[in-house]
Amino acid sequence: MVTEQTQPEVNIGLVGHVDHGKTTLVQALSGDWTDQHSEEMKRGISIRLGYADATLRRCPDCAEPECYTVEETCPEHGVDTETLRTVSFVDAPGHETLMATMLSGASIMDGAVLVVSATEDVPQAQTEEHLMALDIIGIENIVIAQNKIDLVDDERARENYEQIREFVEGTVAEDAPIVPVSAQQEVNVDLVIQALEDRIPTPDRDETLPARMYTARSFDINRPGTKAKDLLGGVIGGSLAQGTLTEGDEIELRPGREVEEGGSSEYHSIETSVRSLQAGGHPQDEVGPGGLLGVGTGLDPSLTKGDALAGQVAGEPGTLPPTRNGFEMEVELLDRVVGEGEVEEISTGEPLMLTVGTATTVGAVTSARTGECEVNLKRPVCAEEGAKIAINRRMGARWRLIGVGTLTE
Ligand code: GDP
Ligand code: MG
Repeated sequence: MVTEQTQPEVNIGLVGHVDHGKTTLVQALSGDWTDQHSEEMKRGISIRLGYADATLRRCPDCAEPECYTVEETCPEHGVDTETLRTVSFVDAPGHETLMATMLSGASIMDGAVLVVSATEDVPQAQTEEHLMALDIIGIENIVIAQNKIDLVDDERARENYEQIREFVEGTVAEDAPIVPVSAQQEVNVDLVIQALEDRIPTPDRDETLPARMYTARSFDINRPGTKAKDLLGGVIGGSLAQGTLTEGDEIELRPGREVEEGGSSEYHSIETSVRSLQAGGHPQDEVGPGGLLGVGTGLDPSLTKGDALAGQVAGEPGTLPPTRNGFEMEVELLDRVVGEGEVEEISTGEPLMLTVGTATTVGAVTSARTGECEVNLKRPVCAEEGAKIAINRRMGARWRLIGVGTLTE
């Protein structure tokens, strides 16, 4: 059998309330179970954000929409199916405490599937919060999967469909198609693929610009007890927004690592080289923008262990945005916080959790006026002017999304 070595070209997020079937839908589309992580490198960035690649195909002999499949051979006609494209699914955790993870994942999503269970009233808390996050981050290409239709009767399915329609009215998902599915029974998977093809196009990206990779994960792939001379370098996982990476390339990571000097500490960027590349479950010599990548580096694996470098930006040395210990941003607050009511103005001195690209950091507000504020960060971020920032405020025991910022200086 010939194995295709296609690099995924687009990242599609799975978002929605816990237990509504995100992981099951990814499994139906990819045959991979993103909640299991046997081989870290192979699964790329799966642990913190579940992750699986899938090649979407069509049978040349079937009519629409039955022609859409992930099978290499059409079960109906026995012929080889044609490859449409390979995609990476980013499976966001639905649990409320993992909002930060969802937000940092959202920054590398080109589109999203909002999974809504037909068995519950709409919206459940994270259905609403995740949709707001998509809105804030500006992810407009959305498909809604109305899942678990095998568990409800026609009337309930229709009622639930109307609830979804009403809920998305006036949001970024207003015109999103709602596809009734059973992820578990694999009913209407063809319709989901059709909707992904229609609604989540592969964005244009410039491969001629210097490489810029947003790191969502980092890890140590060595088995415990490996001898020092056999140790493989640290691995970073993420997505290229522009440019290409080739084995042997020198790369810089920002903000890099914390260095203590004479009682104070500051961040110094890290330089290393690309030792190996992996995408779509295969080693590659060169990779471009698109799906999720694993990049083997020359770094000491203790530096990359346990997502220590998640949130960093990697690219051609000297071309990355500045490392900032603080910044000013224009702020647009949400009208209300899911489950908490109206959003109060940001005040000087309050702590905020900020997601910038794939980085999450806590900042203290040093000055606040209506529509803008200035923050001092606990951990610096690498970001350029115009970067979008998801702003979270501590409410009770957790951080809640309260608005969006645009980095001005
Ligand atoms: P997630 O938290 O959104 O990732 O949800 P999971 O994919 O883990 O699914 C939660 C539970 O719902 C699991 O027990 C699944 O087997 C079940 N489930 C998911 N999709 C369906 C479906 O279409 N029909 C039925 N009957 N069960 C489903
Ligand atoms: Mg899940």
